[in-house]
Amino acid sequence: MTDRLVGHGCCFVHGRLNSRNFDCFLLADFMTQDCRFNTSILHGKVSRGYAQRELLPPVSQVTSFQYENMEALENVFAHRAPGFAYTRIGNPTIAAFEQKICALEGGAGAICTGSGMAAVSSALLTICRSGDEIIAGSGLYGGTIRLLRNFEKLGIHTVFVPKLNAENVRAVISERTRVVFGELIGNPSLSVMDVPAVAAVAHEHAVPLVVDATTATPYLARPLALGADVVIHSTSKYMNGTGNAIGGMIVDGGKFNWDFSKHGALEEFSQYGKMAFSVRARTEICSNLGGCISPLNAYLSYVGVDTLGLRMERICENAAALAERLDQEKDITVNYLTLPHHPDHEFVERELNGYGGGILTIRVGSRERAFEVINSLRYVKIASNLGDIRTLVIHPASTLYRHNSKEEAEAAGVFEDTIRISVGIENKEDLIEDFLNAIGKSRHEQ
Ligand SMILES: *Cc1c(COP(=O)(O)O)cnc(C)c1O
Repeated sequence: MTDRLVGHGCCFVHGRLNSRNFDCFLLADFMTQDCRFNTSILHGKVSRGYAQRELLPPVSQVTSFQYENMEALENVFAHRAPGFAYTRIGNPTIAAFEQKICALEGGAGAICTGSGMAAVSSALLTICRSGDEIIAGSGLYGGTIRLLRNFEKLGIHTVFVPKLNAENVRAVISERTRVVFGELIGNPSLSVMDVPAVAAVAHEHAVPLVVDATTATPYLARPLALGADVVIHSTSKYMNGTGNAIGGMIVDGGKFNWDFSKHGALEEFSQYGKMAFSVRARTEICSNLGGCISPLNAYLSYVGVDTLGLRMERICENAAALAERLDQEKDITVNYLTLPHHPDHEFVERELNGYGGGILTIRVGSRERAFEVINSLRYVKIASNLGDIRTLVIHPASTLYRHNSKEEAEAAGVFEDTIRISVGIENKEDLIEDFLNAIGKSRHEQ
């Protein structure tokens, strides 16, 4: 067996090339330990690549790393030795964050990017080249829809299906399909992907399933365990949680059997077998497109993740309480997963660990009334982020979906009278009161 270290200037894949069983440097062992979510986040052994004495990874706020002699640096570049050379390609603080999320998702390798969009674009460009086709759900994040439109000019075509389920994917999957892509809980449509069913159809056609699980977080679901091949996060949202750093993450399950005659974009990486995606993403696409995260932002996000479980618990409880109360108001309609009338209600137990997530949308009848309600809120902030500990609202049609067509917006659950609420950790009584007051006021003024 030949041991070989892969990864240009970073601790990345520790692959035994003659065995199918690739070990991964990043595969932290703590999720296999016999402890629960919050305990394993806090006490997992994820801190490799730095001196181990610090309780948190030091912020290696540097561009590059110095070596004792030229041979040592050459070995890093030649992938003969692990090490960091240049922060765009790898950095110990960023690696600590990668290891933590990789372990949380139960992945075989993770690559951190400068934003969620960098994660989505890099993951798809790792798999697709000109002439290839993507199948995607149409209820996607607005930026992702626009990215897929940009891909048309590179010769990568997307077939949108109204809902990403087995039936719809089976109807459009073709010889040209290279990847199926969708969001686990659509933002803000709140349409839930049946991951095992969609993965089964994709796998029948030797195509991987890539899931954007930003709005679900690993606290609600671990898509790799449900059958997905790659998971993506905008860590700017729930992972970071406090709204202080943009970031993204790509986690590779390392289980997909790439057919390199089909996936030509990965052909040069065929020697890495099931880790070919990770190796290409890391050494080629992410480092050459250059959308890396800053070490400080990786650090802030790492610290944020420590409280993910606690925050999600509280956020989901608040969101459900707010949704249930607002649902009693006759002149508005509420879209939230735990409400019995939600079309994807069944997935709460089946796929989402019993939770409905932190986002709800309400429709209030008109754009004018939506603005009035938003402008009358006392505590809740008007902002375009989501997943913050503070409750945030936005009118998505005039902002996030402004540059999308009406059809694209409506497929994503965005209408002229829709308000998106990203629920925080406040006291739920105050939140409910704030919304009821604002809604009441708008009624009076009508
Ligand atoms: C916000 C978001 C993105 C984009 O992430 P950024 O960090 O803003 O680049 C992608 N997908 C989903 C589902 C999102 O909510």
